[in-house]
Amino acid sequence: MGFELLNIPLQGINDAITKQFGVNLLVLRLDLAQPEISGNKLFKLKYNLLEAEKAGAKTLLTFGGAFSNHIAATAAAGKKYGFKTIGIIRGEEHSELNPTLKFVADCGMKLQYVSRTFYQNKKELYEFARKQFEKEKIYFIPEGGSNALGVLGCQEITKFITRDFDYVCCACGTGATMAGVVRSLKKNQKAVGFQVLKADGYIKKEVSNWLSDSISEQESAIQNQEKVNVKNNWSINEEYHFGGYAKINEELTEFIKQFEQNNTIPLDYVYTGKMMFGVYDLISKGVFKSGETVIAIHTGGLQGNSGFEFRGNKLTQYG
Ligand SMILES: *Cc1c(COP(=O)(O)O)cnc(C)c1O
Repeated sequence: MGFELLNIPLQGINDAITKQFGVNLLVLRLDLAQPEISGNKLFKLKYNLLEAEKAGAKTLLTFGGAFSNHIAATAAAGKKYGFKTIGIIRGEEHSELNPTLKFVADCGMKLQYVSRTFYQNKKELYEFARKQFEKEKIYFIPEGGSNALGVLGCQEITKFITRDFDYVCCACGTGATMAGVVRSLKKNQKAVGFQVLKADGYIKKEVSNWLSDSISEQESAIQNQEKVNVKNNWSINEEYHFGGYAKINEELTEFIKQFEQNNTIPLDYVYTGKMMFGVYDLISKGVFKSGETVIAIHTGGLQGNSGFEFRGNKLTQYG
């Protein structure tokens, strides 16, 4: 499987705030890596797809919300690399497909809707999916593409940062991407995560779990990785969730609009917009200091923006 990674630019930011505070801010544009399998989801899928191929699976089955970036990425990857795909979608079916679901259906993904309550019980949900599609040789990918192989793929993100840096910043939903990034750091580099959902200590706990020994065995089997101390080279900010997952307000949408105008980089409302808001807040508070180099990972997710517009009002919440 030619899982080639294309050009991933590292784009320098030179606006009033970065100038005023003397911080070297650069954006790693994973959103440009591939047109349809965008951002960190590409990295999370890489070793999962290789594993699926090795196992002789013909079908990828995964889970997600109706606007999920991971569902979109899996559908596109299936089409590109020759897997059938099934998406178990949280929530009821609507007569009109939203832009995400229309895209995945066009990619050939088979959709199966389950109620929100049913979706919450992951064990039952897996059992249901297994029974439902008994005849297919299925490779299961968990929600968000977040498993040990997903973390492993995310360890390759920082290879595309072709210069020294002090901090690397990342939006966190499950923490799998952050864990991969943390594992790949060199001495004197720190990772800063931005939790996009409202739940005290959630990402801190999840990242710690991902970093724990249980997955390092699988990791070292596939990739020889230089040992790094992952105890104190990372931190999580919990103040930039804007009320919860996929919640937005005018301050956030205004920031995103302004940032795009100044720097010609689009951001999404759910992840990268909140991260970048936090990055600028930390710059203006002097947490990132003059002369330091900060890399913000653009993890993609732009397909999700059409979901907000689809609802007719960018300020309404979904979930
Ligand atoms: C899924 C996603 C994330 C979060 O990744 P996790 O590994 O779940 O923390 C961040 N940014 C974007 C754009 C995403 O789609």
